[in-house]
Amino acid sequence: MLDGDGHTYTTESGRGVGINIISASLSFLEQLKIMIESNINVNVKIYDNDGKISTSNLIITTISDTTKFLDWIYEDAGYYLNRKYQKYLDIKNKVNHTYFKLNDQIELVKKLYDEGLGTRKIAKILGVSRSAITTALKKMKIHDPTRKQARTVYLRTSYVCKNCHQHLSIDKFRKRIRGDRISYETRCFECESAKNKELCAKRYAITKLCKISNNAV
Ligand SMILES: [Zn+2]
Repeated sequence: MLDGDGHTYTTESGRGVGINIISASLSFLEQLKIMIESNINVNVKIYDNDGKISTSNLIITTISDTTKFLDWIYEDAGYYLNRKYQKYLDIKNKVNHTYFKLNDQIELVKKLYDEGLGTRKIAKILGVSRSAITTALKKMKIHDPTRKQARTVYLRTSYVCKNCHQHLSIDKFRKRIRGDRISYETRCFECESAKNKELCAKRYAITKLCKISNNAV
């Protein structure tokens, strides 16, 4: 029986999955941690938040640990919140999807990596997260973290604006230089200044509103 204020979460990108159980009782969480660890082999962390707030958190982070934990608590549960069970099925689905997708393409990952592509590019081609590619390479024992891909952004002569979708020459974009890295603004100059004007107008309106409300008091 597990009852408490806990929730499963998935991040927007679907990359992160985890468990976060919040409780005002640190000793409850500590007992729970022992119980979990003695039943299933997962990594459980407890944060007491240095007493800054009255609650503590029990956290499980990796995809495999999260599924293990959920499988365990739903294994022979007869009574559960349907809403939460649905979330559990969703997470299982998501996890299976990513893994199956990658398992089917594992040869392709290897081939692309051998051809000299970086993890970023491979992830983009296969439509999975970059960390999924890194994990796959590690599993195949061919991951070389020292291998760096030369960035080719400085070779670009044109670019598609994220806002107006026009294919424009590279000099229509603001260039940013940080150290030895060059990158370009994703919006063209025209779209960027339109956006800035919009922001300025907003800020101006807010300041004006503040002044009015201050005067009213
Ligand atoms: Zn534009």
